[in-house]
Amino acid sequence: MLGLAVTAAGIAAASVAGYQSMAPSAQWYGKTFTRINRGARKLALTYDDGPNDPYTLHLLEVLAKHDVPATFFLIGRYVQQRPAIVRELVKAGHVVGNHTFTHPQLIFQSPTQIRAQLSACTFAVNDAVGVHSNLFRPPFGGRRPAVLRIARELGLEPVMWSVTGYDWNPTTRERIQRHMTRQIRGGDVILLHDGGHVAMGTDRSHTVAATDWLIARYKQEGYEFVTVPEMMGKVVRQASAVS
Ligand SMILES: [Zn+2]
Repeated sequence: MLGLAVTAAGIAAASVAGYQSMAPSAQWYGKTFTRINRGARKLALTYDDGPNDPYTLHLLEVLAKHDVPATFFLIGRYVQQRPAIVRELVKAGHVVGNHTFTHPQLIFQSPTQIRAQLSACTFAVNDAVGVHSNLFRPPFGGRRPAVLRIARELGLEPVMWSVTGYDWNPTTRERIQRHMTRQIRGGDVILLHDGGHVAMGTDRSHTVAATDWLIARYKQEGYEFVTVPEMMGKVVRQASAVS
C-alpha cells in the first residue's frame, strides 16, 4: 500500500513538473514574456514554424493588406531552404526570432544540444537576412531551467503566448477563429503557425484566412496590432549581423 501511495505521489509530482515545463504562463522556471495587462487595446500576432512555402507568402499578403506587423519564430533549417522568404518578411517590417534549428523538444536535450540548436538557428537567420530580434520561442512551449539559462546566455529572450489558435493540426478557419475570440482579452500574444515543423509545405491556408478575419474584426473594435518587441515596450532595434 505504502509503495503504491509513494508511486502515486511521484506521478503527481512528475505531472506538476510537466505542467510547469509546458504551460505557456507557468513561471516556476524563470520569467518568460507571455502578455501585457489584460484590457490593453493591443494584440501581437506571432507565427511559428516557418518559413513555409507558399503559406508564409500568402500570410504576408494578408498582413500587408491590413498594414499590420507580426512576429515570426523561424526554424533554422527552413531558413536555409527558403532564405528569400525570410528576406521578404524582414523587408516588410516584420520581426523574426529564433525557434531552434530542427524543432526538437528541448526539455529532453542536453545543454550542449540546446546550445547548438539555438546558435544554429541564429546563425541561419543572420546568414539569410543579417538581422535577428534576439527573441526566442521554445518548440512545443517546452522549457526547463537549462533551456532558459542557455537562451539568456546566448542573449535570447524567451517569449511565450496567452492565446492559442490550436492550428497546428488540421482544422478549419472557423475553429481557429472561435479559439482565438474565446481567449482574447486585450494585451495578448497570439500563437499561430505559418509553417509545420514536420515538413515544408504544410497547409496553413486556414490560418491565413483566420488571420484576415481576426485583424478586420479587432481593428474595428479599436485594437492595435503590434510586434512582440513593441508590446514588451522595448522596440529592440534589430541587431546587425556580425561583419
Ligand atoms: Zn513550433
